[in-house]
Amino acid sequence: MGKYIIAGNWKMNKLPSETYDFVKEVVEATKGAECEVVCCTPYVCLAPAVEAAKGTHVKIGAENLHFEDSGAFTGEISADMLADLGVEYVIIGHSERRAYNNETDETVNKKIVKALSKGLIPIVCVGESLEEREAGITMDLIAIQIKKAFAGVSAEDAAKVVVAYEPIWAIGTGKTATDDQAEEVCGGIRNILAALYDEATAKAVTIQYGGSMNAKNCAGLLAKENIDGGLIGGASLKAPDFATIVAAAK
Ligand code: PEP
Repeated sequence: MGKYIIAGNWKMNKLPSETYDFVKEVVEATKGAECEVVCCTPYVCLAPAVEAAKGTHVKIGAENLHFEDSGAFTGEISADMLADLGVEYVIIGHSERRAYNNETDETVNKKIVKALSKGLIPIVCVGESLEEREAGITMDLIAIQIKKAFAGVSAEDAAKVVVAYEPIWAIGTGKTATDDQAEEVCGGIRNILAALYDEATAKAVTIQYGGSMNAKNCAGLLAKENIDGGLIGGASLKAPDFATIVAAAK
């Protein structure tokens, strides 16, 4: 299955002035990690984060990017700007951006294509709301999100993408999907990718679970066959908790 990746999503937390020391703390706490360790930080924290992670096993990611190369897009950040800083990953289509920033399956697709063309690894978020789960349409919705996200992406590029299954009802709520619920959807995502591409490509894709994953519940989730890591919000803000999750991913 895909390479194990534990990625922190700091969201709108931590100051640039505290970033260097915190990333150094993560580096120390996760020494000997048997998975890829990523800290995705606010734009203004990226430079000190990259500086602190330089020469270590920790990689740095952004939480968004714009799909155009450059130009009159006030307030936006391009893939080239991120790559130039030394950023290696970028979260795309987080449910908070879909809810508050007009992110759509179409903009998600444009951003994935742009990120891949600039050598950035996209962490693409998909997931259903509680109403959608209760209506029994979770997998139909995820299939649409995945198909639209990967439109025009070659098999070679698709294998580099990280998919994060994040049920919206589990994000920041303390309400985690059960191990079996998470595995069912992550396995379903792998089947969708196999149908879109082929078995080898589907196996190469890292599929993460995200949604209130923490030091206590991570072991069961990460032991599941189709869960190759986690996208971690709240628990990524405390180095010891984040390190416990990293240690469980092997
Ligand atoms: C997230 O925002 O991607 C996330 C999973 O958050 P939390 O772990 O806090 O639920």
